[in-house]
Amino acid sequence: MILKQSKLIKTMNVDTVNKYKDVLSREFEYLRISVTDRCNYRCSYCMPSEIFNKDYSYIKQSKILSYEEIIQITTILKKIGLKKIRITGGEPLLRKNIDKLIYKLKNEVGIKDVSMTTNGSLLTDKKLNELKASGLDSVTLSLDTLHYDKTAQINGTKKTFDLDKVLEGIEKYFNIVKTNTVVIKSINDEEVLDIIDKMIGITSEVRFIEYMDVGESNNWNLDKVVPSSQLLKLIISRYNLSLIETNKSSTAQKWSIDNTNTSVGFISSITEPFCNGCNRARLSVDGKLYTCLFATEGHDLKKIIRAGASGQDVLDYFYNIWSKRSDRYSELRFINKIDSPKVEMSYIGG
Ligand code: SAM
Ligand code: SF4
Ligand code: SF4
Repeated sequence: MILKQSKLIKTMNVDTVNKYKDVLSREFEYLRISVTDRCNYRCSYCMPSEIFNKDYSYIKQSKILSYEEIIQITTILKKIGLKKIRITGGEPLLRKNIDKLIYKLKNEVGIKDVSMTTNGSLLTDKKLNELKASGLDSVTLSLDTLHYDKTAQINGTKKTFDLDKVLEGIEKYFNIVKTNTVVIKSINDEEVLDIIDKMIGITSEVRFIEYMDVGESNNWNLDKVVPSSQLLKLIISRYNLSLIETNKSSTAQKWSIDNTNTSVGFISSITEPFCNGCNRARLSVDGKLYTCLFATEGHDLKKIIRAGASGQDVLDYFYNIWSKRSDRYSELRFINKIDSPKVEMSYIGG
């Protein structure tokens, strides 16, 4: 079935157009897919337990994008430049047989770079082995603290796992351990050097993320943000760093720590926005396409797929969205006021 809507939109033939550019000349290349909006953690900055409690309405099973639908969508988008996919959520390891999806993305769709972000709590040796066998290229572990009591406070969980074992396992299977730490003032900012100390000795990429105002439930305010420049000063007081060249679409500014196999990166969405190189879209757990992490509304790709749209219909639909894209929320954060509620990180895929 062809959708009425597609009659209104401009058709771009896949054979004649290789790259889709938005109004700021940003090419589409990267898709982050939220495979579940559920999580076994309740991080205060993402899914605070007061809101994500037993009464919270998660997306119903029938509305969740199936693996077949994800494969269908990514196969089409690969034709216009999709090169990189990150599997995220919610906690992606809660989704059954996630390795089967990754296998197909790598081997059937042929995506060059497929990675995953996880809180690590379910990363057993068996799971790591399955993920490696599926073709997964890299794992990013979220690591906000090294202390048990703080895990309960920041991540809202009393369940801990053997961090050393997980770090060892990731390095064994993927050669490098990538970590994300969301830094929050007076909560974990004093752990930054300890986290680096812990990672030195492991081949690693340690990233510090400025606490962001994603969604509406985390009670964000600017006072809780620690500017990356402050962290950099602190780190330089202990280590010699050399700047690593990154490409325009990179979100992180990266430095290698001299005489180690460790690098540090900073994702500074608040103090140094990087919208001008933003080449990514997001696919929510229920199949809506978002062109910005801070969007208030998505585009219902699942609806058109379930209505029987052809590959060309999907491309037309996507072209119509991407060619009009002008998102640069982070650059305008303190200038523009947004009236509608922003979507939550766990739903849209962080
Ligand atoms: N559950 C997985 C995990 O925590 O790694 C994957 C999903 S999580 C939403 C993806 C990433 O988003 C994590 O590294 C998390 O730290 C980050 N994140 C979540 N909320 C954030 C916020 N308000 N500001 C900055 N980063 C955030
Ligand atoms: Fe769960 Fe990840 Fe969000 Fe923490 S950041 S609540 S682990 S989805
Ligand atoms: Fe991309 Fe939106 Fe983030 Fe800017 S604010 S980098 S446009 S996701």
